[in-house]
Amino acid sequence: MEMISNYIAGAQCPPVAGRYLDNVNPATGEVYGKIPRSDAADVDLAVAAAKKAFPAWSQLPAQERAKPLFKLSELITANLERLAMAETIDNGKPIALARSLDIPRSSENLRFFADLIENFAGETFSDQGKGKNSVHYSPLGVVACISPWNLPLYLFTWKIAPALAAGCTVVAKPSEVTPLTAFLLGQLCQEAGLPPGVLNIVHGTGPEVGTPLTTHPGVKAVSFTGSSATGKMVAKAAAESMKRCSLELGGKNPNIIFADCDFEQAVTTTVRSSFLNQGQICLCGSRIFIQRPLYEKFKLALIEQTKALKQGDPQNSETQQGAVVSKAHYQKILSCLEKAREEGGTFLTGGSAAKLSGPNAKGFFITPTLIEGLGPECSTNREEIFGPVATLMPFDTENEVVGYANSTDYGLAASVWSQDLAKAERVASQIDSGVVWINCWMQRDLRTPFGGMKGSGMGREGGRYSLAFFSNIKTIGKG
Ligand code: NAD
Repeated sequence: MEMISNYIAGAQCPPVAGRYLDNVNPATGEVYGKIPRSDAADVDLAVAAAKKAFPAWSQLPAQERAKPLFKLSELITANLERLAMAETIDNGKPIALARSLDIPRSSENLRFFADLIENFAGETFSDQGKGKNSVHYSPLGVVACISPWNLPLYLFTWKIAPALAAGCTVVAKPSEVTPLTAFLLGQLCQEAGLPPGVLNIVHGTGPEVGTPLTTHPGVKAVSFTGSSATGKMVAKAAAESMKRCSLELGGKNPNIIFADCDFEQAVTTTVRSSFLNQGQICLCGSRIFIQRPLYEKFKLALIEQTKALKQGDPQNSETQQGAVVSKAHYQKILSCLEKAREEGGTFLTGGSAAKLSGPNAKGFFITPTLIEGLGPECSTNREEIFGPVATLMPFDTENEVVGYANSTDYGLAASVWSQDLAKAERVASQIDSGVVWINCWMQRDLRTPFGGMKGSGMGREGGRYSLAFFSNIKTIGKG
């Protein structure tokens, strides 16, 4: 039985109240570990440790702060296989994906922000007869980083790396559904020589750990990634105590396929962008709009490639579709499929639980699902499902599809497929989302701002935007 602990003041420690939650392997449905069910007492200890560590850490020269972060990045790479397997067991994702995406990107997050902080400098504005104004960045203090279960270590490091690089000390809460790699990262922090208290990791549920963290008077800012419903609660709690708040929330992303697209590339990437990580990536496209002359041909190719996805044991290197993350999420996705049926959708593939055999017989598997025949206004096309489910809808004109794309409360990401780049850019500029990819998907440059419009979030993270979020910014003017 894998028993994990909190990481506070540089030491692994059990929760104060001695209570634990079950950790379930979603591919088998079996409990395989115990997670601290921490509460406000553990949060208090972690904030106190972070507060104590802040003066020394924040005053280190940037190059000195960068050293343990570079080391941590190297240690993640050195432990790639162990971390990838832990992510797969905890989350249900295919091991090939954990090896190629989750863990390499976690290492890259640390390396990128360590590198960036070494080259991060304030700006100076002079001339115009108004003397000289210089902009200074200083570390904000103790900050909270709260992350979700879909890309556990990837998103955990995406938050803690800039916070630590900027000179803040951190209390981080990974999702209680997938805590294992954050726990292992705590062990690597000790090996990397990160001073005690600089990073503290408290495990437990949203209400029992997240709420005390977002309301704690010693915490200056909250960087949160998760659902829009929780994001609203976090924003309210942060507002009460005037904490700075960054919210990376849900999506209902459109893929717009024009008839003049590169057909092969558009089909292959659309299958990937619909079903990677069982559709549990906030950037996955879940509404596929296809221009009418191409609709039938594109649909048949999508069905063929979706049916060809290899679903199976996530620990098998050949597997392309693993389990969804938990029983609760599995049931939520199945109820969304039921809703789509009631709304009159036609199922082109999938539409139900997938029954596997052997050790995976009780796992939470759903067959990749394509649905057509539903309009953009129905709930299937408005509410985030966050599973292996995408809908197909035809369109005729540019204006019409822009209206469809913008017809949800979300605005995180979109893809546009056309070989007419002027048209693709024209459409991209009219879509209300934080990122639009033209003829590609999920090509992220870590220097660029990342975040959503409308219900998909508040604020931007990435590159200097993240460092600015975790900094006090002061302008000093000289006559
Ligand atoms: P969630 O909102 O249920 O949980 C996210 C985190 O918040 C977890 O650690 C959880 O324990 C914690 N939490 C729950 N209640 C809280 C509270 N009241 N106060 C403070 N913390 C609380 O989200 P999830 O189900 O883990 O993740 C899936 C969601 O995350 C999807 O909606 C997905 O779109 C979104 N997501 C967004 C991005 C992005 O960058 N925009 C990236 C990944 C996932």
